[in-house]
Amino acid sequence: MPLEVREVELDEPRPSDVVVRMEAVGICGTELHSIRGDWERPTPSVLGHEGSGVVEAVGDAVTTVKPGDQVVLSWAPSCGDCADCRRGRPAACVNLHRAIGAGTLVDGTTGMTLDGETLYRGTATGCLQELVTVTERVALPIGGGVSLEQAALLGCAALTGVGAVLFAARAEPGEVVLVIGAGGVGQFCVQGARIAGAEAIVVVDPLEQRLELARGLGATHTTGPDGLKALMKEVAPDGADRALDVVGNPETSALALRFTRSGGTCVIVGIPATGERLDLDFGEFNRREKFLTGTMYGSEDPAVALPIMLDHVRAGRLKLQELLGPSYPLEQVNEAFEASLAGSAGRVLVRPGA
Ligand SMILES: [Zn+2]
Ligand SMILES: [Zn+2]
Repeated sequence: MPLEVREVELDEPRPSDVVVRMEAVGICGTELHSIRGDWERPTPSVLGHEGSGVVEAVGDAVTTVKPGDQVVLSWAPSCGDCADCRRGRPAACVNLHRAIGAGTLVDGTTGMTLDGETLYRGTATGCLQELVTVTERVALPIGGGVSLEQAALLGCAALTGVGAVLFAARAEPGEVVLVIGAGGVGQFCVQGARIAGAEAIVVVDPLEQRLELARGLGATHTTGPDGLKALMKEVAPDGADRALDVVGNPETSALALRFTRSGGTCVIVGIPATGERLDLDFGEFNRREKFLTGTMYGSEDPAVALPIMLDHVRAGRLKLQELLGPSYPLEQVNEAFEASLAGSAGRVLVRPGA
């Protein structure tokens, strides 16, 4: 289903709102699920949940940003009130996930209309537009030193991929990390593994240009799917300490778990299509004592994780420029999605202000 560029009406901002002029919006795998119809979501909807921009206006109650500030958007505002939020796991917030399913913000509103009808928000954000109104908590200041184009990647892919390795897999120095799938998030998993001090980083992907990019970012061993078994036999015959399935389908998750060592941790990072199930062997858990878990948005509060990521960027440990792909103006948004669906090695960006 192609996207259309339309004129929309934004509700009057509330005292706690921030209006952001979007500069760069990354096309994340989640958007591709929406475009392919893998998920049922209300329409009409504005997609986009990974982006950066400049604060245009703020409500009276806003204290953390002011007009002119550069910000990255978090797509996990969270309610601050449910059991998961109180346990410090805002990305698991039940109200957030209800909102994402319903195409709204956490309070159930969307704040936008199209020809007088409710206009929904993709991933509780909907930032693929020139101006977006968000609540203060999700407009996180960048504080200079990073271009807005690069910063867009921090909003989803970087927090998700680096966070998956540091906060979900909890990789440690000297370990072997296996990354299955080297798209945008997978490349950040590679960098997370390097930042964690992994000794070997094995990356598998069918596309050679992605493997080449991964080698430049820290992968020590790369292969297409057919070569994985032989390569693991050579690098880590007992299995990887941490294995990440960044694709998120039953076959790749099974593969990641299989190549996790006894007692090691396997993390499902990619998000499957609705209805997919896993078929698991008990022996992986009772006899081999493996851990299997998932991760959402890097398993850390974005307000905590973003400053950590920015420190890594400024110190040169976390590379963003290498991961930028082609940019398209808003009018060519469908071409941007086509480039992303075709497997562009770098992140495809839409520049609403261009
Ligand atoms: Zn995303
Ligand atoms: Zn909550």
